[in-house]
Amino acid sequence: MMTGQEYVDSIARIKMEIYMFGERVKSAASNPILRPSLNSVKATYDLAMDPEHEDLMTATSHLTGKKVNRFCHIHQSAGDLVKKVKMQRLCGQKTASCFQRCVGLDAFNAIWSTTFETDRTHGTEYHGRFVEYMRRVQENDWTVDGAMTDPKGDRGLSPSQQKDPDLYLRVVERRPDGIVVRGAKAHQTGMSNSHEVIVMPTVAMRPEDRDYAVSFALPADAAGIFMIVGRQSCDTRKLEESSMDVGNCEFGGMEALVVFDDVFVPNDRIFLDGETDFAGMMVERFAGYHRQSYGGCKVGVGDVLIGAAALAAEYNGAAKASHIKDKLIEMTHLNETLFSCGIACSCEGRRTDSGNYLINLLLANVCKQNVTRFPYEITRLAEDIAGGLMVTAPSEKDFRHEKLGPYIEKYLKGVASVATEDRLRILRLIENLTLGTAAVGYRTESLHGAGSPQAQRIMISRQGNIEAKKGLAKAIAGIG
Ligand code: SF4
Ligand code: FE
Repeated sequence: MMTGQEYVDSIARIKMEIYMFGERVKSAASNPILRPSLNSVKATYDLAMDPEHEDLMTATSHLTGKKVNRFCHIHQSAGDLVKKVKMQRLCGQKTASCFQRCVGLDAFNAIWSTTFETDRTHGTEYHGRFVEYMRRVQENDWTVDGAMTDPKGDRGLSPSQQKDPDLYLRVVERRPDGIVVRGAKAHQTGMSNSHEVIVMPTVAMRPEDRDYAVSFALPADAAGIFMIVGRQSCDTRKLEESSMDVGNCEFGGMEALVVFDDVFVPNDRIFLDGETDFAGMMVERFAGYHRQSYGGCKVGVGDVLIGAAALAAEYNGAAKASHIKDKLIEMTHLNETLFSCGIACSCEGRRTDSGNYLINLLLANVCKQNVTRFPYEITRLAEDIAGGLMVTAPSEKDFRHEKLGPYIEKYLKGVASVATEDRLRILRLIENLTLGTAAVGYRTESLHGAGSPQAQRIMISRQGNIEAKKGLAKAIAGIG
């Protein structure tokens, strides 16, 4: 396993093609806007080195018998699935951000079982290749970007019906030694902080979509891959010297549009090519694992937000008010409900034919459906408790200003025992989580990450087994 610093050094050595604000970024490791997101991934390495967190953050590889970072592990039991969710809550608590590394973990486990079942039906050799790939992932302790979401163009048309055929990533050439792919993957979490990228299809496919049913892995700097970093609300505050105004002093997340401009993939890195009948399974399993993930990561970030709201109330002198206490209870209730869903779909996990463990898909989709709602209510309550100052407070520069500083100190003070600076810092953190850069991860990502609400409702309708429930009602009502 790598230490956090070894991880940072390893990313700094990769010559990725990254663009932001119309310019090429020299290095994700030294760029002030990207560095906080690298720090969040670094935390997944640092925490694994901490004996206190060894049980959650590491696992024993079933491939080599060696200790590996749990983010590189193939789940061997329902207990592993539970530990995964607890690990994600811990990482959310420590970073108050998206720590990005789960997309790779979820891709590993989805592709592990899907390649096994594809080979069994089609006589292909994908699973053996993927086993070898996983050995390398574990041996090198890689962070891998799990890339699923295609731009999708006209949502009313299938991949092969699009006017522009590249709106879903596709194979444009097949050679004896591999394939050439073209297309893009949108909203790619953590791409600039990843050693590798692992691509999967984004929807179930029909036979005519054969060129779009493709899965493979490549180094993040493979020729023809480049990324355009997405903007986040208040992102340029990270360019300022102040630490107060960013709210989260060290951590953040990042997303990018990743372009694959006629990229060659060698045979040993291809895990699906044309078997359209298994594209849906890969999508469903990856999405299921990532919907489980949200019952961990968002809960950890929620813990920080609840703590921040409680401190804001304390610093205002309102902590004893009964409605404040009740709001904190409600936030906790909602947050723990999300955690319960993450734990439940894990406990109810089952062994796949390939040997790894898959979450209960119905419960994982229920988990994510709740995540599309509860963080919004938690956010609303946090803003309620924080008060309007969280969006009207002056900048740190004014606070440090010779003339203005003492007035801000005097007039924006809450209880006498708490420094005005601390009060402002906690309000900036709430602003960051609800409206600023971290709101990408806590709010909008809660809605759209791991699939938009309707995607879960489709899965819930498929898995809900209404017919069996009708049978129960008939039996109770005495209907023959
Ligand atoms: Fe991990 Fe959550 Fe970020 Fe997904 S959204 S990569 S589960 S931290
Ligand atoms: Fe996500």
